[in-house]
Amino acid sequence: MPVLTASNSLYLHIPFCTVRCTYCAFNTYINLESLIEPFTNALIREIECVARSSSGLKLHTIYFGGGTPSLLSHIQIGRILSTVRREFDLAADAEISMEANPDDIHLDYVHALMEQGINRLSLGMQSANNRELQLFGRRHDADTIHRAVAASRRAGLKNLNLDLIFGIPHQTLNDWEVSLDQLLWLHPEHISVYALGLEDGTAMNSWVQKGKLPLPDDDLTADMYEFADEYFNTQGYQQYEISNWSLPSRECKHNKQYWLNLPYLGLGPGAHGYMDRLRYETILSPHRYINLLINSDTSRAFPLTPAVNDWHEIDTDTEIAETLLMGLRLTQTGISRFDFVQRFGKDVMECHGSTIEKFVESGLLILDDKKLILSPKGRFLSNMIFREFV
Ligand code: SF4
Repeated sequence: MPVLTASNSLYLHIPFCTVRCTYCAFNTYINLESLIEPFTNALIREIECVARSSSGLKLHTIYFGGGTPSLLSHIQIGRILSTVRREFDLAADAEISMEANPDDIHLDYVHALMEQGINRLSLGMQSANNRELQLFGRRHDADTIHRAVAASRRAGLKNLNLDLIFGIPHQTLNDWEVSLDQLLWLHPEHISVYALGLEDGTAMNSWVQKGKLPLPDDDLTADMYEFADEYFNTQGYQQYEISNWSLPSRECKHNKQYWLNLPYLGLGPGAHGYMDRLRYETILSPHRYINLLINSDTSRAFPLTPAVNDWHEIDTDTEIAETLLMGLRLTQTGISRFDFVQRFGKDVMECHGSTIEKFVESGLLILDDKKLILSPKGRFLSNMIFREFV
C-alpha cells in the first residue's frame, strides 16, 4: 500500500504543439492534432488506473504542462479535471495551473477554463521583440501577449505567470531591458526567466554549432540575469528560486513541490513522477501511449501504469542528495536544517559536511543555524555546486 502524504501534486503532460520552436527539446509533436481526443480518453484512463490502487490520495496542486495544453478544448480539460476530482481527494483551494500559448488565449476560452477549475495560467511570452520571437519560430508576436493578458484579466484570472528567455543570439542588454519593461507593464503575479539552452537535436543548437548564429558571451548573459533581478526587486517581485520571482505569497506551489523533493504523480507521455520512493518516466510516443492505455491491463501497482517505461527505487542517500540539490535552488529558504533533521534524522553537516564547508569557505554557500542557502555568487555557479552533491 502506498505511503500517502498530506500534500501530493499531479503533473499532466500534453504532448502536442502546432509548430516546433527552434530551441525546444521537450517531448512534443506537431501535426498530431487528430490524436487529441483519443489522448484525452487515454489520459483519463491513466488517472483512473493510478487512482484504483491509491484511493484517497490527497492532491494540492495540478499542473497541465507540455507541449501546448491550450490546444485542448475547455471540454477536454474539464473531463480530465472532473476525473481527477472523482478519483482523488483534491484540496478545495488547490492550485490548478495550465501552460498556454498566447495565441490560444481568448476571453471565452479563459472563462470556460476557469469554470472548469483552472486558476493559474502560465503564458510562454519568451520575448517582447518580434525579431527574437521569429528566430524562436513562435506562433505569437509581441502584440498577442498583450491581448492574451488582457483577455485573461477580463475573464477574472488572478494568478498569471509569464516566461522570458535571455541570452538569445544578437540580443543586447538594451533588447533585454525592453522585454523586461513590457513584461512588467503587464504586471504578472509570477515571472520565470531562463537562459537560452542549446539542446541536442534543436534547430537553434545546429545554427549555433555551425556558426550561423552567435550567442551572447557569458559576461553579458550574467549581466542580463543580474539586471533582471535588480529590476524585478524595484517592482515588488522577490526571487524565490534561481529562475523564478513572484509578488508576495504568489510562488508556484506546484513547482515548490519539486524543489522540496516531495511526491508527485506524472501522467501522460514523457512525464516523470516521484511517488512512494520510486522515480519513474512514461513512454514518449503519444501513439504508443494511447494504445497501451486503451488496450492493455491497467491493474499494475501504484504508481506504475502501463504507460510507465522505466522506474527505479530511491535509497536514502540518493534522497538526501536530491533534497539538497533541489532545495538549494530555493534562493530565500534554501535547506531548512530543522525540516532536514525531521525528514532524515540527521543534520546536513552529518551528510555532506566536507562539501558544504568547502563551498562556505569559497563564498558560494551560506550556512547558519537555521538554513543552508546559495550565496548571490553561488547562484551563478549552481550547476557546478549541485554536481558535487551527487
Ligand atoms: S510551444 Fe513550447 S513545447 Fe511547443 S515547441 Fe514551442 S517551446 Fe516546445
